[in-house]
Amino acid sequence: MTSITRDHLGNTLVLGLGRTGESVARYLAARLGGRVDSVTLYGGASSTPGEKTRELEEAGVSVICGTEDVRGSYDLAVASPGIPDSSDFFRAAKACSNEVIGEPEFAFRESPERWVAITGTNGKTTTTSLTTHLLREGGLAAESVGNIGTLVTDELDGRAEDSWFVAELSSFQLATTRLLHPRVAVILNVTPDHLEWHHSMEAYAAAKERSLENLDAGDLAVVSVDDEFCRAMAKRAEARGLRVCRLSVHEEPGSPCAAFLREGRLVVRLDGTEHALAHREELKIFGLHNAENALAAASVALELGVGAADVCRGLTSFSPIEHRIEPAGTVAGVRYVNDSKATNTDSVEKALTAFDAGTIVVMLGGHDKMTDLTSLAAAVCERCRVAVCFGEAGGRIASALEDARGEKDLEVLRAPHLREAFGAAVAAARPGDTVLLSPACSSFDEFNNMSERGRLFKALVAELAGSEA
Ligand code: ADP
Repeated sequence: MTSITRDHLGNTLVLGLGRTGESVARYLAARLGGRVDSVTLYGGASSTPGEKTRELEEAGVSVICGTEDVRGSYDLAVASPGIPDSSDFFRAAKACSNEVIGEPEFAFRESPERWVAITGTNGKTTTTSLTTHLLREGGLAAESVGNIGTLVTDELDGRAEDSWFVAELSSFQLATTRLLHPRVAVILNVTPDHLEWHHSMEAYAAAKERSLENLDAGDLAVVSVDDEFCRAMAKRAEARGLRVCRLSVHEEPGSPCAAFLREGRLVVRLDGTEHALAHREELKIFGLHNAENALAAASVALELGVGAADVCRGLTSFSPIEHRIEPAGTVAGVRYVNDSKATNTDSVEKALTAFDAGTIVVMLGGHDKMTDLTSLAAAVCERCRVAVCFGEAGGRIASALEDARGEKDLEVLRAPHLREAFGAAVAAARPGDTVLLSPACSSFDEFNNMSERGRLFKALVAELAGSEA
């Protein structure tokens, strides 16, 4: 591995005035006069001076707002994740810096020991949280960091000795890594998403594959073989002589390291030694996709020395995270489930496998990312009794379902917003059904984010329960 220079960072540049930029700038400013010669922060074209910039300036950061025309000469630049490498802002920074990296890479260089990297289109947060849970169950110190919401940089000061960083990394964050070298790297799946940023599936997949780049023979790559992009990555990693734990919920890979289901039981094989773990039915997180997440997390924990009994206990005690197939209550015999985090079609297709076919009233819609709906429509027609389509994308989804349903008994309803869609779902549901908010869209047409959308759904369920009582 390339040696990591941690002593002198020189003149540093930070791009972006959001949470990441602010945190990195503060971290660097605290080292001014020692390891850091100067810290300059460009906030971007729409940034304006205010309380935050004044505080940063007081800490010793030179803050420049309202422009992306970066000037000067820098040893190291750290870009916030919202700034694509194809943007003029990023290019301008690159032209006057020795290198431009992202925040996780920066934090890794500052504290490179004991990292686990977890990426994939879907399942990152669940797998990251579950991995941390399993490591702790085995008595190890572990923190979930990264895309999950905790900046790694914020955890650097006072990082406990021997603690593990379990880092959820998005493709945006991985696009700018170079030295990042986790002890275990997980790639869960690669399905279409974020193509407006990466431009092609190949570029998007390549960003995820970067998490494997610096692995060596003593490390472990846990890679799905259930989609074509990941399967190709697994093969390339094996060709490099890496230990690859082939992850599948559809087959039993024959490789020395593998994680799979055998008659519903989770099994992880590491260097030929098999560990039979909990049964799928014992997990509190439902659906085949969650079995995949559980297998990935269990592989990491076993590789890092957690015993099989501790892994089993952790697997069965782990509860769903908010907005991810989260039970929201049962009213009049109808179960309500909040899967607001399902912002792309693949995640909805997976969520539909968690409930009995013919008993699902699904709520779909929101901001239209114009993704292809063919496969989603087929899955909804196959598994749902009713689909309520709402928001900006509602009309397009409803039409796609009507075109696809053929002889299938799917009822398609339309509603303007989430609240009306909920009313329509309640009216259509029968005892024994599940009303599932799994919208396949982002929420920005009606909400600030998917959490707000999920919380409104849960409030509507609570309101309904109150009126029933
Ligand atoms: P991420 O952090 O990658 O967005 P989450 O764990 O937050 O992933 O899950 C987001 C949504 O994706 C969930 O609501 C679920 O519907 C779906 N999902 C979770 N795990 C997987 C998986 N392994 N494969 C496909 N879809 C998944």
